[in-house]
Amino acid sequence: MASTDTRAVHAGRADLRALGVHVPPIDLSTTNPLPGVGTGGDSYEALACGGLLPEGGSAVYQRLWNPTTARFEEALAELEGCEQAVAFSSGMAALTACLLAARAEGHGHVVAVRPLYGGTDHILATGLLGTEVTWAKADEVAAALRPDTGLVVVETPANPTLELVDLEALAAQCGEVPLLVDNTFATPVLQRPVLQGATLILHSATKYLGGHGDVLAGAVATSAEWAERLRRVRAVTGGILHPLAAYLLHRGLQTLPLRVRHQAVGAAKLAAWLGGRPEIERVYYPGLPDCDPAGLVGRQMRGAGSVLAFSLRGGYDAAARVAEDCRLITHAVSLGGVDTLIQHPASLTHRPVAADARPHPSLLRVSVGLEDVEDLFEDLDLALAAAHSGARC
Ligand SMILES: *Cc1c(COP(=O)(O)O)cnc(C)c1O
Repeated sequence: MASTDTRAVHAGRADLRALGVHVPPIDLSTTNPLPGVGTGGDSYEALACGGLLPEGGSAVYQRLWNPTTARFEEALAELEGCEQAVAFSSGMAALTACLLAARAEGHGHVVAVRPLYGGTDHILATGLLGTEVTWAKADEVAAALRPDTGLVVVETPANPTLELVDLEALAAQCGEVPLLVDNTFATPVLQRPVLQGATLILHSATKYLGGHGDVLAGAVATSAEWAERLRRVRAVTGGILHPLAAYLLHRGLQTLPLRVRHQAVGAAKLAAWLGGRPEIERVYYPGLPDCDPAGLVGRQMRGAGSVLAFSLRGGYDAAARVAEDCRLITHAVSLGGVDTLIQHPASLTHRPVAADARPHPSLLRVSVGLEDVEDLFEDLDLALAAAHSGARC
């Protein structure tokens, strides 16, 4: 099989030459001419039940099927090494479909390992979708499983403190229960959870897959069986990804390996630089030996990624000052884009999390972009010094 770099460039494009085009066409049709009442009806039934577009059939209606969105799905499935992928209008819509599909199978119980993205934590903790959660440590998942457990949910590296979970060891505990891995931080360039036994690989495609901060999207790479369940939920709940967004994501995939590797080089340098600063209490980055005691980088991950976090000696006040005082680095949530972002998880992305599981108020999270890392040092140097001395505003 071709390498990740080659697949990223060519996946989902095999038919272009025969179509006589070089880049994928964009199909914006919300409805499609029907070849006949009988064949149209057959297509509708197949798609509404989660099937693929039937040979010679009609896409019928965009909420059921869109060829541009399907191209992106095909490309992502190939990169993740899964049979299929299903794309959604956001990462949270993708997670919602996974939870509803598990519930529809009669399995409303979820075992989840914290920390998780704040929205994921929120949807599980509140039981908003009728699911019930048991929080478990990664090595205590087996004991938390019940006959009605439909999913085990984990994130690695985890948002925002970059904890790593050994997926092979976790999958061994799951038995028949499908393991859902949020692979947003690692991307298929650094980690392919299907190889460790995951069934559902979730992405907030808004982050690295899009990579430029201009697409909100989610996706799940999985087996053909699970993809059918997810498409069925998507068809009736209406969470499908818009074709223009799918086009941008498909284009973004072509530079994904390049961006992920280059951004990780910058992040490693920044993690080392931050570690030498007197204002900083602790740096969290999977590339630092004390953040990866099990040696998963190199084994489970092909690199440490480009998100890091750090805690400040001055607590909340110092952290807030640093986030607000950065000039080149943008004070904003989200991550995985070409420009560097900084944010305060306890106030923002992880605000909904229960107080005893919320990130420490002295913590800041940084998503490292493609800027020259020397310029990031300069920006942070001024912000850290100001937070420490009380100057610069
Ligand atoms: C952002 C994010 C999500 C949610 O995705 P949206 O596209 O914002 O809906 C889920 N998981 C992780 C790890 C994230 O960073």
